[in-house]
Formats: sequence, structure tokens, C-alpha cells
Amino acid sequence: MGRRMRTPKKSHNSELQLIQSPQRLLVFTDLDGTLLHPINYEWRGAASTLGELRRKRIPLILCTSKTRAEIKTLRRKMGHVDPYIAENGGILVVPWTFFGKPDTEGARSRELVWRLGWTQAEASQVLSRLARRAKVKVRGFRQMSVAEIARATGLTLAEARKAQMREASEPFQIVSASTAQMRAFWRAARERRIKLAEGGRFWHLTMGTDKGQAMTLLIQLKEIVEGVQLRTIAAGNSSIDLPMLTQASLPILIPRPNGKFDPKVIRALPGAIRASGSGPAAWAEAVRSAVLQCEREQAADLRKLRPIAPANGWQALALREFSTLQIPEGHSKLPINRRRAASQ
Ligand SMILES: [Mg+2]
Repeated sequence: MGRRMRTPKKSHNSELQLIQSPQRLLVFTDLDGTLLHPINYEWRGAASTLGELRRKRIPLILCTSKTRAEIKTLRRKMGHVDPYIAENGGILVVPWTFFGKPDTEGARSRELVWRLGWTQAEASQVLSRLARRAKVKVRGFRQMSVAEIARATGLTLAEARKAQMREASEPFQIVSASTAQMRAFWRAARERRIKLAEGGRFWHLTMGTDKGQAMTLLIQLKEIVEGVQLRTIAAGNSSIDLPMLTQASLPILIPRPNGKFDPKVIRALPGAIRASGSGPAAWAEAVRSAVLQCEREQAADLRKLRPIAPANGWQALALREFSTLQIPEGHSKLPINRRRAASQ
């Protein structure tokens, strides 16, 4: 009670400024079957909401199992300039402009790239070891031809080639396994603290990274730079999105094309917003109303917008950290736990 808002005039003003600050909110979204149409990968039905986010200067962070090469093409078409998370949290890419650098051509082309998990070769080795042990027959991206990937995903050959340019993960399919063998596979993974997740068309294995961890890292960096706590919206359609959805202030679930929601996601997040259908137009409608809800809530509760750190001091610190951690294009160094992960 003693803390109750006997705020001096100056601080009250600064809180008002925070409300008006255009970057109070971050929107995270999965791509396949969420922002992109589940069958034809189309996004144009979401164009008006994408434009609205841009006008309001609310960053839209793409968070996907796609590779950097695939996302780059999509971003160019969409005119997307915000950060993105590739390969299920294995790669985090942050354009320089995200941290308040002037929005010029030069600043836009500079980006920081972190690899947060295994290399593809390491993931592939771990996968074959686990599969051998459990006698499960798997087929990873590395073993597949471009034509095979195109067939399995419905991508064109050129797109499939980009999907194969992986830097931090090895999606795979299960070719054959009995129930007992699958159980042994799960157990062997769990014992080594490896996570297995089923995406739309492929399985994924990760250790120490997922969409949620990359999301947290990005939010924390942004909060340090901004000096205020951020609210987040996240949209996804499958259990691989759960680590991201569970952290969002407002999670949005997109149903499958048959109108049903992923049961694992529903069980974990019964109170999440449920989109009215799948495809970019349904995504756009759900995200738009979530943004409006966030804006209403922010306007109604000034106290939620308390500054979390003295902005100037933290800004300087954060920018120094970034330059230490920066990994150049075609990076060969891992900042986090590479040795430990590889030796599992
Ligand atoms: Mg998806």
C-alpha cells in the first residue's frame, strides 16, 4: 500500500510517454499454417494487418522452423524489416534498427546473427545415435534430395533448396517404428535432455534451444534497451509453438485447415485466443483484435508500464554486449554451450 502511486509529476509524465511510445508491444508469429496459408504458403490475405503493425511501429517477429535463406526471400516479398527467429530458435537475427538505430538503408542491412544451438551436422549426428539406439528408422533433411524435400513439403525445387540450407537443426521424418521403439526413442532423448517436437510435416530435435528461449532472449535485450517492460502477442498452430505461446501476454491459436486445434496446445493453453479459421486472413483478424486489446489494457493500467531499468545506463551496457556477441555472416563460432551439446 505504501508504494501506491504518490508519483511525482515528472515520473507521471514519463509514464505517459511510455504509453505513447510506439514500441511497447511485440508480436511474435509462427509462419507455416499460422501467418502463411497451411497449403499454399500464401500471406497476402494478411497484408492490411501487416501494414497496420508497421504504421503503429509494432515489431512483428517471425518465429519459424524455416531457414535464414527461406526467410530472407519471404521478408523481401513482405517488406519485413523486424527481427526473426529461424530453425525453431536455433538462429536469432536482429536488424540493427531494432535497437533504435536510425532507419536508413545502411542500418537496415546490418544485422546481428546468433546461433543458439547445434550446427546441422551436430544435430544430425545426435539424431542418428538416438535412432540407432531405439531401433527407429528416421530420415533427416541431410539424407534427403532436394526433390524429396519438395515432394514432402509441397515447396518448389528452388524453395526446397533453401529449406535444405540449414545452420542449426536437422528436421526428420520417422520412416518406421513400433510403439515400443518410439517409446525408447523418447526415453533416450529425455535422458539426454534433448527435446523432440512434432511440427507440421517434420519432427525436430533440439537441446537448450526452442522458439520460447530465443523469444525470451530477444525480449530481454529489447527491454534492457528500452528500459521498460514489454507486452507480447504470439500466434502459433502446433505444439512446437508452445514454448513461444506460453510466454506471451496474449497467445493466439490458429486451427488446422479442418477447423480443429492442436489438442496439446489447447490442453496447455485453454484460455488462449482462438482464431476463427486458418490462413492469413484469419491470422490478420486475430492479431488485429489482440493488438487492440493490448492497447486498451495498456491505456487502462498505467502501473503495468513501470520502467524496469534506468534506460540510459542499460542502453549503453546492452549495446556493448551486442558488439561482443556479434557473429558475422557465415559464422563459425557458437556463443552458447556448443561443446556440452555436442558431447551428449
Ligand atoms: Mg506452424
